[in-house]
Amino acid sequence: MSGDDYHRRTAITRLAVSSTDESLLRDTIEEWKQGCQIAVDKAWMWCHSKSDVQQLAYDGVRENTNLGSQHAILACHQAAENIKSCISRRQDGKKASKPTYTSPTITYDSRTMTVFPEKEQVSLTTHGDHSRVRADLVLPDDKDGYQHQYLDSDEWEPTESTLHYRNGDWYLHLGFRKPKQDAEEATENGTVLGVDLGVNEIAVTSTARFFSAGELNHKRREFERVRGDLQKCGTRNAHRTMEAVSGREDRYVKHVLHSVANGIVEEALEHDCDGIVFEELDGIRERLPEAAWHSEWAFDRLYEYVEYKAEAEGLFVETTNPKNTSKRCAECGFIHDANRPSRDTFECQQCGNRNHADYNAAKNVADVSLRREQQSSRGRGVSQYALKSGTVTPNRGYTPYSTESEAESTDKSHPQRASPSGRAK
Ligand SMILES: [Zn+2]
Repeated sequence: MSGDDYHRRTAITRLAVSSTDESLLRDTIEEWKQGCQIAVDKAWMWCHSKSDVQQLAYDGVRENTNLGSQHAILACHQAAENIKSCISRRQDGKKASKPTYTSPTITYDSRTMTVFPEKEQVSLTTHGDHSRVRADLVLPDDKDGYQHQYLDSDEWEPTESTLHYRNGDWYLHLGFRKPKQDAEEATENGTVLGVDLGVNEIAVTSTARFFSAGELNHKRREFERVRGDLQKCGTRNAHRTMEAVSGREDRYVKHVLHSVANGIVEEALEHDCDGIVFEELDGIRERLPEAAWHSEWAFDRLYEYVEYKAEAEGLFVETTNPKNTSKRCAECGFIHDANRPSRDTFECQQCGNRNHADYNAAKNVADVSLRREQQSSRGRGVSQYALKSGTVTPNRGYTPYSTESEAESTDKSHPQRASPSGRAK
């Protein structure tokens, strides 16, 4: 799916940054944002290939920021990519305005970053004449953290990566690549992550990760109550306060949606997925009339955030027809209204499979998309979807990741498609 001759993977790790280095890195990010903005402002409506944008904007970036030459080039390339994705959004009939750079993120490549796997460290170029800073990778304690399979490997080499500053913490999305052996090896084994959107859970993945809407719903009700009180008050002061409250609510909701989006992308990366599948959002309001907090707006934002973050990690995102995903048994395929005795419960009337309804739906979302893939010639090269404990190929069934991970797993829903009647519970 990445259009070049490499397999690409991303390993996410937190970074331990000293306080001196922290301010240096934050300044570098400010310079970077400015550099990208300068490049976009120059190139917008003019050009979008990396080389064209670089030719047009490089000098301006160098003159007006403190970025070193390589980061100035990367900023031009970043701008080019963002303009390109605006163009393709417009071709899809969606709206896309000129990008602005507000999120605290910066791109690194092999010339601006060096990884020291044995020391579990990384060195990063900063702005101006400052030298590089070194930071420790905060990796999971057990050596089995998925990051190690790339870090400790001779086959995977570090490539374009992004550094993020989020809620006072630093995260490095370390990109790795490895040459594709040959064409046939590169396809047909790809994996997708299915995602169901809902009421009590904002999102549930086919790997059984639940993003609860509980706190969000609670806060929204609180904001609502405060606004109600202010409305009764009716003074000009109250009106101003009300606007401030609405702004705060808006920011809070976006913050929650961002962290859900990050979680979904992380889940896909941890399970070695090539893409993420959602149900189509059109009409979701009608399908989920109970949701107080949700609006098409929130789901649209969430999708947009995931799309943006996934693209940066080389993952595709697509939607699939939601028909019957809530009534269909992900294990035996039986479709019936009675399979859904309550909002959160799924209980198959044919095979007895009992599960959280949204989790069952997340698997169906992935399943439907893979079946469609089989019938089309789009060639995503995906044939299976990820569970917590293994993968499922429609028609061919379940494969555990490995014997250990199966034993550890709490995922009790290994689909046995070969014998749909074989499960009592
Ligand atoms: Zn069933």
